[in-house]
Amino acid sequence: MTITKNLSDITNRIEKAAQQAQRDPHAITLLAVSKTWPAEKLRALAEAGQKHFGENYLQEALQKISALKSFDLIWHFIGPIQSNKTKDIAEQFSWVHSVDRLKIAQRLNAQRPSALPPLNICIQLNIDDETTKSGIKPDALLSFAQSLEPLDNLILRGIMVIPSNTDDPEQQRRSFQHALNHYQRLKDHYPNIDTLSMGMSKDMELAITHGSTIVRVGTALFGKRTTPKPTATVK
Ligand SMILES: *Cc1c(COP(=O)(O)O)cnc(C)c1O
Repeated sequence: MTITKNLSDITNRIEKAAQQAQRDPHAITLLAVSKTWPAEKLRALAEAGQKHFGENYLQEALQKISALKSFDLIWHFIGPIQSNKTKDIAEQFSWVHSVDRLKIAQRLNAQRPSALPPLNICIQLNIDDETTKSGIKPDALLSFAQSLEPLDNLILRGIMVIPSNTDDPEQQRRSFQHALNHYQRLKDHYPNIDTLSMGMSKDMELAITHGSTIVRVGTALFGKRTTPKPTATVK
């Protein structure tokens, strides 16, 4: 199976899910999550027209951004952010989905080059209230958004969620519905927000049913990741 075949399969899945939900398929952006994969794999997708790429680890991302300069790609940072990484992120990425600390937001704001448009950000929401997971607790969402208001070099686009890892469709549905509710509640206060970053390889259809505007897809595009993660995951 070639990677471009995977790309067209996923594009079809998105279109079908959008139609079933009576939504415009163009309202949903496919973010190709390319962590651990070499630039050559991304190049094949870029040549097939894929524009948006998501990366979790800064060092490998910087190499790929540099190797693929000629394609004019749009880079999204979607992983946890350490404060010593904010400068490169502010300079090299267009989007950050994983903002959940004011200090990090302030650094991104201060380090965003003035020659570039404001950095697009999503607040990461800890939708299932998991103690092990990053993200803002739902009841703190609005006050956190308010704390970002003075940061002129950032533009709040919406929220990002990673629901708890479950195969129970009812639980998935509940998480996505909660995320949609919180998104709409935030939109009542910030009518210009337009982004609900939600859904991955296994659950993108259900996410689209619940209003997702960006699906973040890794495995279904690139295959199963085998490279160990640089940081240990506690299960
Ligand atoms: C790795 C990752 C994805 C992609 O997950 P797949 O199951 O491989 O599609 C999406 N979002 C985030 C935040 C990730 O870290």
